[in-house]
Amino acid sequence: MSATGTVVVVGGGLAGASAVGTLRDEGFTGDVVLVGAEPHLPYERPPLSKSYLAGDSTLTEAFVHAVEFYDTRDVDLRLGSPVTALDLDTHTVHVGHETIGYDRLLLATGSAARRLPPADRSGAAVAYLRTVEDADRIRAALRPGRRVVVVGGGWIGLEVAAAARGADCDVVVVEPLAQPLLRVLGEELGHAFATLHRGHGVDLRTSTGLASVTSREPGGPAVVRLDDGTATEADLLVVGIGAVPQTDLAEAAGLAVEDGVLADEHLVTSHPDVLVAGDIARAHHPAYGTRIRVEHWDNAKAQGATAARNLLGAREAYDRLPYFFTDQYDLGMEYVGHLGPEGYDELVVRGDLAGVFTAFWLRGGRVRAAMHANDWDAIDPLRAIVTAGEVDLAALRDPRVPLGDVAS
Ligand code: NAP
Repeated sequence: MSATGTVVVVGGGLAGASAVGTLRDEGFTGDVVLVGAEPHLPYERPPLSKSYLAGDSTLTEAFVHAVEFYDTRDVDLRLGSPVTALDLDTHTVHVGHETIGYDRLLLATGSAARRLPPADRSGAAVAYLRTVEDADRIRAALRPGRRVVVVGGGWIGLEVAAAARGADCDVVVVEPLAQPLLRVLGEELGHAFATLHRGHGVDLRTSTGLASVTSREPGGPAVVRLDDGTATEADLLVVGIGAVPQTDLAEAAGLAVEDGVLADEHLVTSHPDVLVAGDIARAHHPAYGTRIRVEHWDNAKAQGATAARNLLGAREAYDRLPYFFTDQYDLGMEYVGHLGPEGYDELVVRGDLAGVFTAFWLRGGRVRAAMHANDWDAIDPLRAIVTAGEVDLAALRDPRVPLGDVAS
């Protein structure tokens, strides 16, 4: 694409904001339009379930860029403007009655919280956590002695539980599998997170699901009955049972969609002038030889930048390893790699699962993923080990060998 023309970015989250900045950094002098459904400047979501929820940071601190950033780079920000349709033949985006033409389009519409219909129908005080308004609502409800029940022992569930315990709430977490985070971290690490939360006073109920939710008055406490026959009351019921990629626009426009918008390694969709980034992208990943979809902060940021360069004709393969982090109580962790549905056949742990440690997930003798807890210098060696994949396993298992020497 020449330095002129129009790029429209649909989606005012981190991926979209990252893309518009990169377009200008790369010298693009054409028109840049960023259309977002939410009324706020694009913001980062990790604080919503961590420092923002705990009342330790502000929305302004979560903004990807200050408003001056967009002004000085001549980015036409259309916030609070949900796109209603895309027309790939006429190269137009419809926002209500307005039509915006494009030469190249980036779709970065992100995900929405997966709903739990029985909870929604109950009339009780039910919250999800995706937007800043959701976080405000939960934050206002976290008061000492309040009873909070969290459905889902995933990232949202555990981070909300930690914030709620930090606010001296009584917290119950309900997780249908035997451990929290079981699908991502496996049995041993899931158990370590369970121990962490129980140690901080969370009543973690695993291997049981929600049988029913009822409410005695609209917006009032929920009576939560579980499959194991127990019942508990909640002043607030927080549902964190996963996210759903927002692919309706793409699908209606005729793009190939299969649990995400399908794309090649250059993030180009089934239409050559439409690229995709962030939670909705199911893009071919050269390191895994298959398409993967990653719902994490780092992916949105980095894919937005790669997509912007490719909108300008760079043809850069997106091959960054998936990465995410969490903070819960005094545990901070970073994770790099991707296990996929095949999982792992060996776990190597260095250190103490109750304190500072590193962990490596192997399959077929190859390191597929790694994480550290409270070992902040470890992430670069971990990334090198996962990138190498095939390393000296005796060295990996021997804690006397510095991590930095394992992949060299
Ligand atoms: P998630 O991490 O996918 O976890 C959802 C959890 O809810 C899983 O443990 C799941 O169990 C459980 N679950 C599913 N259906 C359930 C049901 N009907 N009743 C009870 N539990 C149920 O999703 P999330 O925690 O909602 O987070 C949403 C998105 O935000 C994800 O993409 C997540 O990666 C992202 N996020 C990331 C971070 C971070 O990286 N630190 C923090 C917050 C949010 P099964 O495994 O059995 O389905």
